[in-house]
Amino acid sequence: MKPKRKINLSETILGKEEVNAVCAVIDSGWLTMGDQVMMFERSFAELHGVAEAVAVNSCTAALHLALRSLEIGPGDEVLVPSLSFVATTNAVLYVGASPVFVDIESLDQPHISVSEAEKKITVKTKAVIIMHYGGYVADMSKWRAFCDDFKITLIEDAAHSPAAEGVGQTSDASAFSFFSNKNMSTAEGGMLLSRDSEVIRKARRLRAHGMSSDTLTRHKGHAFSYDVNQLGYNYRMDEIRAAIGLAQLTKLKKWNTKRNEISKIYRELLENGRLGVRIPFDEKHNSTAHLMPIILPQRTERNKLMQSLKEDGIQSSIHYPPIHQFTYYREKFPNITLSITEEFCRRELTMPLHPLLTVDDVQYIVDALERALN
Ligand SMILES: *Cc1c(COP(=O)(O)O)cnc(C)c1O
Repeated sequence: MKPKRKINLSETILGKEEVNAVCAVIDSGWLTMGDQVMMFERSFAELHGVAEAVAVNSCTAALHLALRSLEIGPGDEVLVPSLSFVATTNAVLYVGASPVFVDIESLDQPHISVSEAEKKITVKTKAVIIMHYGGYVADMSKWRAFCDDFKITLIEDAAHSPAAEGVGQTSDASAFSFFSNKNMSTAEGGMLLSRDSEVIRKARRLRAHGMSSDTLTRHKGHAFSYDVNQLGYNYRMDEIRAAIGLAQLTKLKKWNTKRNEISKIYRELLENGRLGVRIPFDEKHNSTAHLMPIILPQRTERNKLMQSLKEDGIQSSIHYPPIHQFTYYREKFPNITLSITEEFCRRELTMPLHPLLTVDDVQYIVDALERALN
C-alpha cells in the first residue's frame, strides 16, 4: 500500500521575510496605522494600476466601507450572487440595503448572469456586486457597460483575485481579502481600491470612527483634536499585518502563476469529462486560480466521496453553500429559487490548490478521486 499523504485545501506560506518584517515593526515601536500601512496601500494600489487604496482589517470591512462610501443605504437594492461567501451579502445588510440574488450563468460559467441581473433591475437598484469566483475574473467590460446603461454602481468582491489582470480598474470600488486561506495573507486583513478619490477619502474616515484626523497625524503634531460627523467604525489595519502584507505582495504574482500551472495539471489529468467530472471555466480564462472547483456527476454522494478522500489524507471542501438557503437569509428572504446556483452548489467539490502542490500530489489526488468515484 502506498504511504498516505496529508494534503490540505490551502497552505499559508510564511517565511524569513515575514518574520524579519514583523520583528522590524516591533523594534520600531509604532504598531498601527503608520509607514507600513501607507506603503502597503501604495504598493497594492500600484500593483492594480489604481491610484489609491485603503487598508482595513478584513475584506468584509472593505465591502462595508465600499457600500457606505458609495452612499448605498436603506431602501436601496443591490444585485448580488448567492454563490459566494456570506460576507458579500452581509455587507449589504450592514448598510440597511436589500440584497437581490441573481442566478449564475451556467455550471461552466458560475459568475452571475448579466441577463438575469437585468431582469431583477427595479427603480430601487443602486449597485451590483460581482464576485470573481475561484479567482476567475468576470467579464468586467460587460459589467461596466451594464452599470453605465442602468446608472448603477459596480462593486467587485475581489477576495479571490488579487493581482489579476483588469481587477479593480473599471469598477467603482473593489474589496480584497488577506485572510489565511487566500492567495496572499496577513492572517486577517483586507483592502479597498477605488478610482474615485472621494470614495477613498470617505472610506479613510469611516475606517477610523468617522474621525476627521488620524492617529499618526495627531502623533506628528499636525492636529490636536478632531471632529466626528458620521457613524464610523474601527476597521484599521496594524503595522504588523501591513509589514507581512508587503512581504507577501512581492511573491503574489509568482504564486498566482504557480496556482494556474497546478490547475492546468488538474485539467489535464481529469481530461475535462473523463470521470464524468466537469471543470468550470476555460483553461485560458484570466484567473488567479484561488480555488480548484470541479462539478461531480449528477448522482454522486458528495459526503461519501469527501469522506473517502479524507481517508486518503486529502482535504476537500464546498464553495459555497448558497447564501439564499442559509436559515437567516431564508427567513428574511423566503421563496427564492436560483436553479443553476442550486445545482452548482449541490454538485461542486473544491480540490486542494496552493503553490506548494507538486505534479505528483495532483496525480495522487486525481487517482484517489477516480477510486472514490468508482
Ligand atoms: C474570504 C471572503 C470574504 C471575506 O473576507 P474576510 O477578509 O475574511 O472578511 C468575502 N468574500 C469572499 C468571496 C471571500 O472568499
